[in-house]
Amino acid sequence: MRTSIATVSLSGTLTEKLTAAARAGFDGVEIFENDLLAGPLAPDEIRARCADLGLTVDLYQPVRDVEAVPADEFARNLRRARHKFQLMERLGADTVLVCSSVSPLARDDDALAAAQLSELADLAQDFGIRVAYEALAWGRHVSTWDHAWRIVETAAHPALGTCLDSFHILSRSSGPKDLDAIEDIPGEKIFFLQLADAPLLGMDVLQWSRHHRCFPGQGGFDVAGLVARVLRAGYDGPLSLEVFNDVFRQAEAGPTAVDARRSLLLLQEELGVEVLPAPAPPSAVAFAELVTQDADPVAALLGGLGFTRTARHRGKPVDLWEQGEARILVNTGGAALARSRHRSRGKSPADGTAVAAIGLESADPAAAARRAEALLAPVLPRRRAEGDAPLDAVAAPDGTELFLCATRRPGLPDWRADFEDVPHAPAAADDVRIDHVALTQPWHRFDEAVLFHRGVLGLDAEESVDVADPYGLLRSRAVTDAGGGVRFPLTVAAAPGDDTAHARHIALGTGDVVAAARRLVEAGCRPLPIPVNYYDDLAARFEFADGELETYRDLGILYDRDAHGVFRHCYTRTVGRVFFELVQRDGGYRGYGAANAPVRLAAQHAVHRLTGG
Ligand code: MG
Ligand code: MG
Repeated sequence: MRTSIATVSLSGTLTEKLTAAARAGFDGVEIFENDLLAGPLAPDEIRARCADLGLTVDLYQPVRDVEAVPADEFARNLRRARHKFQLMERLGADTVLVCSSVSPLARDDDALAAAQLSELADLAQDFGIRVAYEALAWGRHVSTWDHAWRIVETAAHPALGTCLDSFHILSRSSGPKDLDAIEDIPGEKIFFLQLADAPLLGMDVLQWSRHHRCFPGQGGFDVAGLVARVLRAGYDGPLSLEVFNDVFRQAEAGPTAVDARRSLLLLQEELGVEVLPAPAPPSAVAFAELVTQDADPVAALLGGLGFTRTARHRGKPVDLWEQGEARILVNTGGAALARSRHRSRGKSPADGTAVAAIGLESADPAAAARRAEALLAPVLPRRRAEGDAPLDAVAAPDGTELFLCATRRPGLPDWRADFEDVPHAPAAADDVRIDHVALTQPWHRFDEAVLFHRGVLGLDAEESVDVADPYGLLRSRAVTDAGGGVRFPLTVAAAPGDDTAHARHIALGTGDVVAAARRLVEAGCRPLPIPVNYYDDLAARFEFADGELETYRDLGILYDRDAHGVFRHCYTRTVGRVFFELVQRDGGYRGYGAANAPVRLAAQHAVHRLTGG
């Protein structure tokens, strides 16, 4: 199907918006009137620019407050409309959006509305233009799609049809049953279809629409269910995104346009009208790669956590540290560090230690890479020397390199084979694995990141949680595979410059967190100190065996319980922008200790203040 995007959905000048839409692969655009009025390009120049970029102008919008008004007012509205139609002729747009009136002059009179819209359509027809009438969810008298359609049906004018907008429809819908009758609208009378999703918020619908619309798959609406009905009605126009969103208005247009198009590709896949390479979800984290210019603090920490340095890359300054199934690569190469710095936009602290890449254990790495590419993920050049395993890698929206790989599995290229063993002592424990990697996101890439991990990698997204930080509020949403082998809590902090809130962490799962924490202390790496107040509160909330709580307090171990089981966890100090967590999940506990996160963040801020770094 053809895809289109309203210019209001992207940031920048009209030229920047058009370029971003074309580069992301859209077929057309809706020109939002303000973008035209505020820019220097004449309508004919915009038309030429679109043609050069291979974009059609699918809609001009909006014309407001036209119908069901006294005759003298309607005469003025027609004069206004004529002016817009002349402009549209120069622009090369043949469909105009007229939204239901919010004017206090408008009357609750469907017959009058139909008659005046019919007269407007007469005028439009002279210009070869079609009028698409849309019910705003907050329209004065017409606020539902079926009401707007009844008026269009009454008018029975060939140049008058309806525009369906998923936000206006779904924000007012009380269930899928209300929508069935959409299939009875003759397809040729649905002149346009605008798509937006939104998180389910209990708030004023106008504010909800203006600030919180998002791309399909990023909110809580059943956009696919609605589009399926519109397609069954026989609609054959474009799928067009019309998204008013405070974040997208500020974020760079190029990546937002890619995010937008990816959402439509996934929507079309869900509808069965687009075939993409099937998802091949990862089953485990093969490795996490740290970049650093000073390996010593990282090595001390890894040693304290029980890792042992087992191998070195044959051609690059990369060490492999292992413990059980947990593998950490430590990359001291300048190029890797520079790439990581570039991604964090120069925000890395002095020593620059950061999580730069993750290896995802995949049943079919090549198939996973094909899907990622089909969904517009940047495929990274294979940085490899002769003889290295051919690793497929893509960049996540936050710039993290995701390697789709296999570890010691026959028949698949083995990244481990690029490493040469070095003499080493045994690791401290053999039941250790990477439980989760918490990936902080740039503030303007959060919804995109969730959709990327869900759509591109085939992970499931959990509910969004808000976590209090002393200096802001963190939003967190985990993406996981069905087996729990891959868990990425994605977080975003309100304060972009807050290094504490932006440090990433690698959580190591163990069968005995107390023993692991003791080893850490014995190695001279004190865990993050947790205030005594926390343990007083724990004593009130839960019952513990004799001495149990004291052990947790001494080792800085936090405690949580859910309907399934128990979670015990503690944290190391932060190195650069990375810290580690030791976790023990018992009885199928599913979360990440969100209840304890505010305590952890406050403790990290306290350490940060003391050490000044
Ligand atoms: Mg609309
Ligand atoms: Mg964690």
